[in-house]
Amino acid sequence: MATEVKNSQSTILRTAGPRGLDASVMIKNLVPESEQQRVPGPQDPVRLSQNATTAHILTIRWTADSGWEAPQISPYSKIALEPTASVLHYATESFEGMKAYRGYDGKLRLFRPRLNCERMRISNDRVCLPDFDSVELLSVITTFLALECPRWLPDPGSNLYVRPTMIGSGSALGIQRPREALFFLFAALFPQSSSAKVSPGIKLLASDPEQIRAWPGGFGYAKVGANYGPAMTAQAQAREAGCSQTLWLFGEDKLVTEAGASNFFVIWRAKTSNEIELVTSSLDTKVILDGITRRSVLALARERLTASADPDVLGDLKPLKVVERAFTVAEMLDVSVEGRLIEAFVSGTAMFISPVAMIRHKQQDIEFPMQVTETGLEAPVSHYSSRLKGWLEDIIYGKVDHPWAYVIEEKVS
Ligand SMILES: *Cc1c(COP(=O)(O)O)cnc(C)c1O
Repeated sequence: MATEVKNSQSTILRTAGPRGLDASVMIKNLVPESEQQRVPGPQDPVRLSQNATTAHILTIRWTADSGWEAPQISPYSKIALEPTASVLHYATESFEGMKAYRGYDGKLRLFRPRLNCERMRISNDRVCLPDFDSVELLSVITTFLALECPRWLPDPGSNLYVRPTMIGSGSALGIQRPREALFFLFAALFPQSSSAKVSPGIKLLASDPEQIRAWPGGFGYAKVGANYGPAMTAQAQAREAGCSQTLWLFGEDKLVTEAGASNFFVIWRAKTSNEIELVTSSLDTKVILDGITRRSVLALARERLTASADPDVLGDLKPLKVVERAFTVAEMLDVSVEGRLIEAFVSGTAMFISPVAMIRHKQQDIEFPMQVTETGLEAPVSHYSSRLKGWLEDIIYGKVDHPWAYVIEEKVS
């Protein structure tokens, strides 16, 4: 694109500069419905592989010289990269994890998706990937889902996992800011857990001091691939110890930060005041991810679970205080020994709200109060977390109208 700028002396040819991301110029090369795979049912074992996707992929190329090219929806396929591509050597990668939800009213919703797009800008900035207009990115994502979901997300109360990804795609063996990047997005068909099923509670293995996920000045606050590969040895150790996730501790004081790819919350009775507190790590050290579920849990708890909440909403629950601060595993051990532990849970798009049954810690395990359910199963006491989970489910599946739900209009093609 070039524009002529005339002044009195001469005519100067001036380029308009790199193009910004533009959702309106989308190119579609679609697979006919009759040629698409059948859609696996909610409990189909195909979903267990965690590799099944819908029929299409969305890609957008970017170059430093020209900016963002037209977004393109095409048949799901492999991506070609030079062996010298930046991402393959220097982990110039960022991603997001979102879900599209099929409401009980038949409508398709995302949950606070602008926050995912804004967080991807922050992640990109940390690993030298290009910036974009988050409104345009959301519009691109919406177009893709409006196309895929009528077919691939038919069942009310189910969801589709959406993975926006950005990579440094250009050939760049010299260590430098990528001059070419690729945004891509696909939707994965994950197992659907029935919300009526009681979770036996997850077990967490507290990380070894030799293994540190993130540190101040690092990139733990960014959703970049570089955070996850090196965490997989700890994840494997957790599995060997009969746990499902790592509880990441940080520093000599063993600060409790987050769990796997989820944020961590504990509810306890405070020692001196005897108040009930909902405690989670603060964001200020930048060693944890600013989870959208975390933010939402905090906001709902402040609105509906504190002393100033509507007593009808609070119901039989005692009001609590919401506390974002640094806390240590030693503190949790004290609380546990003194019988002041109430509940713990993790939060995230993938795990949603999952109660914690125990934390395996080298010096001493921490066990959370358990209850026997009506069906005879042992499960963690989860009076607060199940209330929070229910409120979030009501929002994402459209049982209530709420500004956090983002309804996508589907045009059946
Ligand atoms: C994605 C992620 C979370 C959860 O974030 P949500 O926005 O709630 O899905 C928490 N911690 C880490 C390390 C993550 O990668």
